[in-house]
Amino acid sequence: MRYVSTRGQSPAVGFVDAVLAGLAPDGGLYIPEAWPTFTAAQIAGFAGKPYHEVAAAVIGAFAGDEIPADALAEMCREAYATFKHAAVTPLVQLAPEVFMAELFHGPSLAFKDVAMQILARLYDHVLGQQNRVQTILCATSGDTGGAAVEAFRGRKNVRVVALFPEGRISEVQRRFMTTAPDANVACVAVSGTFDDCQAIVKQAFQDQALRQAVDLSGVNSINFARIAAQAVYYFTSAVALGAPHRPVSFCVPSGNFGDAFAGYVASRMGLPIARIVVATNSNDILAGAFETGRYARGQVHATMSPAMDIQSASNFERLFFEATGRDAAATAQAFEGFNANGAINVPPAALAKMRQMFVGVGVGEDDTAKAIVATLDTSGELIDPHTAVAVSALGRVDVPGPVVVLSTAHAAKFPEDVAKVSGLTPQLPRGAADLAGRPERFERLPAEAETIKAYVRTFAGA
Ligand SMILES: *Cc1c(COP(=O)(O)O)cnc(C)c1O
Repeated sequence: MRYVSTRGQSPAVGFVDAVLAGLAPDGGLYIPEAWPTFTAAQIAGFAGKPYHEVAAAVIGAFAGDEIPADALAEMCREAYATFKHAAVTPLVQLAPEVFMAELFHGPSLAFKDVAMQILARLYDHVLGQQNRVQTILCATSGDTGGAAVEAFRGRKNVRVVALFPEGRISEVQRRFMTTAPDANVACVAVSGTFDDCQAIVKQAFQDQALRQAVDLSGVNSINFARIAAQAVYYFTSAVALGAPHRPVSFCVPSGNFGDAFAGYVASRMGLPIARIVVATNSNDILAGAFETGRYARGQVHATMSPAMDIQSASNFERLFFEATGRDAAATAQAFEGFNANGAINVPPAALAKMRQMFVGVGVGEDDTAKAIVATLDTSGELIDPHTAVAVSALGRVDVPGPVVVLSTAHAAKFPEDVAKVSGLTPQLPRGAADLAGRPERFERLPAEAETIKAYVRTFAGA
């Protein structure tokens, strides 16, 4: 399997190189040259299989012969054994024809664990073979950092530096990063926003000397292995509800558009998906793009669903590339333009293609709060604010059922907001219950690229 850049100016690479590189050298995102597919019989055969076996089949279709099948099977077995539910991503029913896939049973209680646990094992496997130690630099809006720290802590071939915006993530989110005692982990509270953190990471990646000195790598949601790993629960959920014999719809709380795009990938692989609802909070650049065709960056608002407080949905570039019939020149022009002036007008034909699958809905804070209360009243489930954005969005659109709402975080990651709205304080599950008592360890640094780059260099001993 070869991977091409959405901007068409970088040579095609194999799976391992696409994963370790993250971003393509021309600034584009890697995407498979052709989508691997399953037959309906193969998809039907996933029914009742353990999650890790379906994961090995789906991820294996993208890895091709670059990762031996038995090694990948073992990595998937180990990765999903870290989840505290035997079904890994169990389905819970909320209403007739409405289900919720709980994606938060991993070590850091957010869906980011689903991809990060397998990604860490892929890195270990590949870097161990190459006798190489990389430095992973990641900016987090709350959950990526905790998932990355949990997945990579204690691993020999990787160091992790996680940058988070000080005071803009929940205490529980912060503690999942800062309480890891391992020497290969460093956390930095940056005095700025998530967008500042992300801009610093981009500058670090553009610094060729630093890149080489510390062997820099990225695990943000543009990494294709994460998308491949997220396609897996679309298969397991849909098959449990009758696919491939009947189509299933999904409703996805969205920020960087990685999770919803993984649903598109599953459909390209042959899974019958009717519609995907892209639910955003009041940072609704994505929802607006599907509604109006104009993808335009605005001011970032702080909301109860901080992991979606994003105004630049990186993975939208992959969908644009697909919807324009893989027109790399048009994609490069559109997204270079977006970097410069913050807006793209999606060509009408491409927009029509996108709308065959996607419908966008932006949800405000009041409606998010109402969805937490209503879900509790009608199903007894206490959901987190990100999931509530999706539940509320689903109430505003008409999509063919059955529908699966992706529940992306455990309510106990956001105890203050959930308690304020519902009157109930969600409890951390066993195993994380002592989180508040664990000692924290992090650095405080200004939002200055040079200062943070110097810190990364020192931490990596370079
Ligand atoms: C990251 C995250 C999202 C958004 O996922 P994208 O792939 O960035 O669209 C939604 N909910 C939670 C809890 C998250 O951590």
